[in-house]
Amino acid sequence: MTMQRVGVVGAGTMGNGIAHVFARSGFKVVLCDVEQRFLDRGLDTIAKNMEREVVKGKVLAADKTAALGRITPVLDRSKLVDCELIVEAATEKFEIKAEIFRDLDRLAKADVILASNTSSISITKIAALTKRPDKVIGMHFFNPVPVMKLVEVIRGLATAQATYEAVRDLAVKLKKTPVEVNDAPGFVSNRVLMPLLNEAMFAVMEGVVLRRRWMKCSNWAWRIRWGR
Ligand code: NAD
Repeated sequence: MTMQRVGVVGAGTMGNGIAHVFARSGFKVVLCDVEQRFLDRGLDTIAKNMEREVVKGKVLAADKTAALGRITPVLDRSKLVDCELIVEAATEKFEIKAEIFRDLDRLAKADVILASNTSSISITKIAALTKRPDKVIGMHFFNPVPVMKLVEVIRGLATAQATYEAVRDLAVKLKKTPVEVNDAPGFVSNRVLMPLLNEAMFAVMEGVVLRRRWMKCSNWAWRIRWGR
């Protein structure tokens, strides 16, 4: 399947990053949010992050301009009608995602894959809201999206093999590293991350970690992780 036009619902931290990587890879992107100021903020962030890539020599200035030109911001969700894949990256609340998926299922063509970037909501539960549970999947990017390589590709109980393969191949086209994951609380990355963070807090609480040193180290770890 050759996709050219992708919809992204939500222009926040993750949505603008997802729009960024699709546009950078040559896709036309329709970026949807509920208020113009959220779209403006998302586009502004994309422009700044792309400029940073230009300065670092990762992207040519002309490619940045072309990529920004491929993103169409919209408030009207019906403008997603011609998209061949839609990635939902709206606020992490089941009721919000439920409304979005019911509506996307109504407006998108029957063969369109609907993906969610949710960190914690069951893909099977989201898929069951639609009449196309075989075409619903998790596409879990990490923050900051233009930098982080990993994408968890999450199969709901009803996700078809063809849907999984299409999204996996798409992640590779975005120069990401897809990993296949089954639907379970926290999927894999957050399931592993949460006990690690808890243990770090216990280490501080028990006085094993000296607070000032810890802050200094975590600052370095943060910089190394984000490549800054
Ligand atoms: P965010 O608050 O930065 O952005 C959410 C955006 O969704 C906002 O711009 C908001 O206006 C918009 N929105 C809300 N309701 C909407 C609707 N009905 N239609 C269109 N847009 C709507 O949140 P975020 O951090 O980008 O998280 C988005 C999703 O990504 C969540 O599911 C979250 O769990 C997941 N996620 C977040 C991170 C992270 O580090 N922030 C990492 C991985 C996954």
